Amino acid sequence: MKPYYLTTPIYYASGEPHIGHAYTTILTDTLARYGRQTGTDVTFLTGTDEHGQKMKEAAADKKTSPKELADKMAEGFKKAWIDLDISFDRFIRTTDQAHVDLVQDILIRLWENKEIYSDIYSGWYCIHEERYWTSREVGGQQLCPDCKRPVEYVEETNYFFRMGKYQERLLSHINKNPNWIIPKTRRNEVLGFLNKPLEDLSISRPKKRLDWGITLPFDESHVCYVWVDALFSYVTGSSFPSESTKGPEYNCWPADLQVVGKDILTTHSVYWPTLLMASNLPLPKKILAHGWWLSEDAKMSKSMGNVIDPLQLKEQFGTDAVRWYLLRDMPTGSDATFTKERFNTRYEELANVLGNLASRTISMIAKYKLGVLPSKTETDLKEELKETLHKFKQHMEELQVHSALDVAMDLARKANAYIDQKEPWALARDTAQVQSLDTTLATLHRILTLLTILLFPVMPEKMSELARRLGLSTVPTLNNFDVILSERSKVEEGSPLFPKDIL
Ligand SMILES: [Zn+2]
Repeated sequence: MKPYYLTTPIYYASGEPHIGHAYTTILTDTLARYGRQTGTDVTFLTGTDEHGQKMKEAAADKKTSPKELADKMAEGFKKAWIDLDISFDRFIRTTDQAHVDLVQDILIRLWENKEIYSDIYSGWYCIHEERYWTSREVGGQQLCPDCKRPVEYVEETNYFFRMGKYQERLLSHINKNPNWIIPKTRRNEVLGFLNKPLEDLSISRPKKRLDWGITLPFDESHVCYVWVDALFSYVTGSSFPSESTKGPEYNCWPADLQVVGKDILTTHSVYWPTLLMASNLPLPKKILAHGWWLSEDAKMSKSMGNVIDPLQLKEQFGTDAVRWYLLRDMPTGSDATFTKERFNTRYEELANVLGNLASRTISMIAKYKLGVLPSKTETDLKEELKETLHKFKQHMEELQVHSALDVAMDLARKANAYIDQKEPWALARDTAQVQSLDTTLATLHRILTLLTILLFPVMPEKMSELARRLGLSTVPTLNNFDVILSERSKVEEGSPLFPKDIL
C-alpha cells in the first residue's frame, strides 16, 4: 500500500522563511505526526523553489550567483524546519538534477502530444513577476497591477499549454468532489474563477531575458516558466530513488493532501490539476488552503515591514509554545491576527489548564502512592474519554486542527474539575477510601496519557517530557495506548511544564 503523502508548498527561496511559511509547515507537520499517531505510514515533503527572475535579482543584489544563493537559502529553510521540529521525510530542491530531468521528460511528452504549442505573444510584461498582463490590467500608467513596477511591451515567440481545453473536465472534477478543495469558501473562489473562460497558459520565457530556469527540451532558447517547473516538484519528490531506505522505484504520487496558502490556490487548483490531466497523471486527492496571519488586519509582508520572525519567537518562547499558538489561535482555513496578547492568552491556557493538571496529578501520585499506581485500577470518566477521542479524530479528519485542540483542552478542564469534585487529599486521609483514591488518580493519569497522544503532533517536545514524567517509556500511539500505559513506572515530579516567567 502506498503511504499517505502530504506536501507543503515548495517555498520560493529568494527570501528568508517568515511566519507564513512557518504556519503552513507546522500545520502540515501536525497532520503528518497525527497520521503517524494513528498508525498510518506517512511521507511528508517540503522544499525550495529556486528558479526564476526574483532569484536572479536577489543573487545579483547579494553579488553572488543564483545557484550559490539557492544553496544557501535551501540550507536556511532546512535549518529553520529542523529548529521548529518539522518531521519532513524529504526536502526537494527544484535545481536537483532528478527534478530537472523529470520536468524535461514531461515537457517533451506534452509537446509531442500537442498539449503545448508556440505562438507570438504581444502585450505587457512585468519582469519582476515574470508575468504577462493585458492592456486593461496595466492601465494608462502602464504599471504592474501586482507590484506596481513599470511593465514593458513585448512581442515574442512563446510556448503555451492548452489549459483552456481542460476547463470542463476540471469543473466537473470540482463539482463531483465537494471536499477536493477545503475549506468551502476557497472552493467557491475557485469555482468563481472558473466561471469565466479559462485561457491557455504561457509556460516559457525567452532566455535572452531570463536564463535562470529549466531549458525547454524542444527549444533551447527558452526556459520553463518557474511555476510550471515548481509544481512538478511534488511529483519528483514523491519518487524515492534507490538511496532511500524504502527501496527502489518507490513512488507515492498522487499526494493525499497538499497544504497551501490561499494566495497560491489558483496555481494549485487550476494550473496544477490541468497540467496533471494533460500529463496523464492522477490529481492530488485533497487541497487545503489556509488563511493569512495578519498584523492589525494587514497581511504580513516584507514590504509592509511587519514581518514576524518565527525563529526569533522560538528563541524567546520555545518551539512548542510557538507551534501551539499558531495552530490553536488560527481557525484552520481562515485569517487570524497575530498579537502578543493572543499569544499570552493561549500560553496561559497551557500553563493554567494542562500544566496545572499535570503537576497536580503527578505530585498527588508521588505523595499518596510513592509514585506508583497499582496496575489494573478501575477508572472513571470513560464516556468523556471516548467522546473526546471520537470528536478529536473527526475534527482532524476534517482538517479542523484548531477544533481538535479545543476538544483536547476541554478534557483537561474536565479533569481539573474532577479533581476539585473528588478531593483526593480528603480521600488520602481516610483508609477506607483507598480504592476510591486509586481510581481517582488512575483516571487522571489515564486522561493525561491520552492528552500526550492527542497533543504530541502540535507539541512533540513538551508531550514527550510529560510522558516521561508520567512514567511512560514513550508517547503512546492510539494503537498501543493501553500497552504503554500498563507498563508505566514511577512518576517523576519536576519544574512547571509551561513556566509563566517566559512571557
Ligand atoms: Zn509586477
